[in-house]
Amino acid sequence: MSTNSCIFCNILREKRDNIVLSNKHCFAMFDGYPVSKGHILIIPKRHVSSFFQLELDEVVDAYLLLQEAKKLLDKKFKPAGYNIGVNIGSAAGQTVWHVHIHLIPRYKGDVENPTGGIRNIFPDKGDYTKIL
Ligand code: AMP
Ligand code: ZN
Repeated sequence: MSTNSCIFCNILREKRDNIVLSNKHCFAMFDGYPVSKGHILIIPKRHVSSFFQLELDEVVDAYLLLQEAKKLLDKKFKPAGYNIGVNIGSAAGQTVWHVHIHLIPRYKGDVENPTGGIRNIFPDKGDYTKIL
């Protein structure tokens, strides 16, 4: 199922030029409001809201595009690291109700203390080494 009101379905349907990679079940595009230089979204073509609704072949194609997108970003921007994340549900911060995986390139010094990475969604709990 796809919906006319879904921004990601529309981007796919219109073959917009921020789509940089695709395979049978997924496509990848640069995020319109990047949190870092080269922030890419891996998006299954089928319109479902949750990562947990995906079939295995869709997850495999998403993984293959993650690998391809990493190669592309390594070449284009030479980041020092990556975060991969999926927001599932409004409590977890999801805002677009078509499943997508964030691939976020990270650069030396882009935040003062990167320790803990995605643990920093709870800002005071990122650096657990401070409480050891
Ligand atoms: P989430 O909050 O996990 O649902 O992520 C939604 C992502 O979609 C955000 O990173 C937005 O920057 C991105 N986004 C929203 N609207 C657009 C758009 N029109 N084009 C490209 N990216 C978008
Ligand atoms: Zn959609």
